[in-house]
Amino acid sequence: MQDKKQKEEEIILRAANLTLGYGAADIVKDVSLSIRRAEIAAIIGPNGSGKSTLLKALARLLPIRSGKITLGNADMWEQPTRQVAQRVAFLPQSADFPPDITVMELVRMGRLPHRGFWDGFSRKDAAASEAALRRTGLIPFARRPLRALSGGERQRVRLAMALAQEPEILLLDEPTTYLDIRHQLALMELVEHLHDTLGLTVVMVLHDLNQAVRYSHHLIALTDGRVMADGAPEEVFTRDLVRDLYGVESLVRDVELAGRRTRLCLPERVAQEKEGEAV
Ligand code: ADP
Ligand code: MG
Repeated sequence: MQDKKQKEEEIILRAANLTLGYGAADIVKDVSLSIRRAEIAAIIGPNGSGKSTLLKALARLLPIRSGKITLGNADMWEQPTRQVAQRVAFLPQSADFPPDITVMELVRMGRLPHRGFWDGFSRKDAAASEAALRRTGLIPFARRPLRALSGGERQRVRLAMALAQEPEILLLDEPTTYLDIRHQLALMELVEHLHDTLGLTVVMVLHDLNQAVRYSHHLIALTDGRVMADGAPEEVFTRDLVRDLYGVESLVRDVELAGRRTRLCLPERVAQEKEGEAV
């Protein structure tokens, strides 16, 4: 029991006083957060609050201005690129692929961090790609070109490509945006299933607050590049948080959904702007 507890408490990814930006502007400011091994963390916050910027930095795709990111026990930037790529997979908000590439070809590209430049495609690479296709229900689509897939299927292919990488940490930037509700739900269920079966650590930026609360163990709210709330969704997700984050009054209610307690938020109206003290 003690062992299990310790494992659950293991911090796999930590940002300490992280500042990030582009050009003259600092976008993420002095952000500190800790991601525990095998948890699902959701990052929420208004447009432009720095969510994607933060996620990119956690994938080591953006240099750090100040602060530090620790992956496992060591500074992420002091680890070999390939080692980081083997441990962390990142799905950007959008990505263009050559439309003629097939599902199988793309998923196999996920193996690149595990192969030397001159190495051929090993049996292990083939097995990992096949497993990724199977886990995402894409075996029947393996030979199809990407252009012949729906948005939901394409998103699953991107997830499969990340899985083929056999990462410990999966970073997803708004994976459900542009999908209809059935495909959104299917994707969230798939992510949850992969988390449960593979013990993956998941950090995802989600636009949909109800999805964020329902599918995460850990909620991080960003506004203007700073952390406004960080904790268990049932503790930090409140009507006040929604107002402070988005300037929206909302109805927030605890409900039972599919046999589990969760909290739903229904936006009510745009909150009154505070002008000085007058409302
Ligand atoms: P979010 O994902 O929360 O909507 P982003 O992290 O994408 O926010 O963007 C935060 C801010 O950083 C925005 O003001 C955006 O214009 C700016 N920004 C994002 N990417 C770049 C970039 N590559 N170059 C310059 N500014 C950027
Ligand atoms: Mg974004």
